[in-house]
Amino acid sequence: MTDMLQPGARIGILGGGQLGRMLAMAAARLGFDAVIYTPDEDSPASRVAAETVVAPYEDLEAVRRFAQRVDVVTYEFENVPVETAHAAAAHAPVRPDPKALEVAQDRCVEKEFVNANGAATVPWRAVGSRETLGEALDYIGTPAILKTRRFGYDGKGQAALKSRDDAQAAFEAIGARPAILEGFAQFTRELSILAARGLNGEIRAYPLSENRHGGGILKETEAPAEADEVTRSQAFALATNLLEALDYIGLLAVELFDLGDGRLLVNEIAPRVHNTGHWTMDACLCDQFEQHIRAIAGWPLGDPEALAPARMINLIGEDALGWRNWLNAEGAVLHLYGKREVREGRKMGHVNIVERG
Ligand code: ADP
Ligand code: MG
Repeated sequence: MTDMLQPGARIGILGGGQLGRMLAMAAARLGFDAVIYTPDEDSPASRVAAETVVAPYEDLEAVRRFAQRVDVVTYEFENVPVETAHAAAAHAPVRPDPKALEVAQDRCVEKEFVNANGAATVPWRAVGSRETLGEALDYIGTPAILKTRRFGYDGKGQAALKSRDDAQAAFEAIGARPAILEGFAQFTRELSILAARGLNGEIRAYPLSENRHGGGILKETEAPAEADEVTRSQAFALATNLLEALDYIGLLAVELFDLGDGRLLVNEIAPRVHNTGHWTMDACLCDQFEQHIRAIAGWPLGDPEALAPARMINLIGEDALGWRNWLNAEGAVLHLYGKREVREGRKMGHVNIVERG
């Protein structure tokens, strides 16, 4: 197939964080050269890549020069400006299509898109001002969560409302920015499904992951999650719909709320490799990073089956200082991201604990 990139080809990655680092390592293992585009000097990804371009995302001239020097462009970060992705697309295929960025960058656009494609979400309303927050509360009721429409991650830019009295404080707490008000999901657990779509339309999904968050940030994932056939096929169908609607090439993550009564709600989607898929690095023949690289390179997708059950533990902030303790732990595999500075709430690495039979 002529659409298949050959080993030695160059893969451009927008974003220099740990996801870019692990994508670059997977690319290297398949014989590709990763070229990172990041505004940061000394990013985690650039230190394992063949080359790096350090420039702001808004420098479209630099973006064009970068895209001219690679065979395909992808992104590891959903807040890459859409114009940046479009500028790159003039010179190299951008996979997944920038359309996925447009959808994922704005929580209201995302929910509208998910609902339009047949998947349920919590009830939600766009909030543009203090006044519309009142109207949204009439519709949603409490408890509820107010979130900024854009740029939220790891639970940042969110405020919980226990009652209407919290409305003003919540709006101020998120910086009085354009927001979304969401009904509070009474879920029994959080799941995610990671699925990839290849250039030829083939789709393969990893087993469901069960994810535990604390303060809005992912702490642990267990996979494969225990789930009946109905739940598994519902999650797969839902991911398939979204992948096809976006004409998506690459790996997509879908975060789910399991209501425990057979219903799954979509929380959010991430058009990239995802923290809840890190367990695949040590429990699957083809991990999520290789799967994404295969997809964007036009290669056949790899085998996403789990060879063994696994638990992924995020090393957040000072957790990482205890890295030595994991070296001799039964079944544990340590992954560190090479971040120079430990900061509270910062993802520094993770550990996969693989259950051996
Ligand atoms: P982020 O972009 O920061 O990951 P999320 O919308 O996924 O934002 O929120 C982070 C976490 O907060 C979720 O994984 C979940 O635990 C909790 N959460 C978010 N929205 C809701 C909701 N509507 N109802 C209940 N819990 C929620
Ligand atoms: Mg999330």
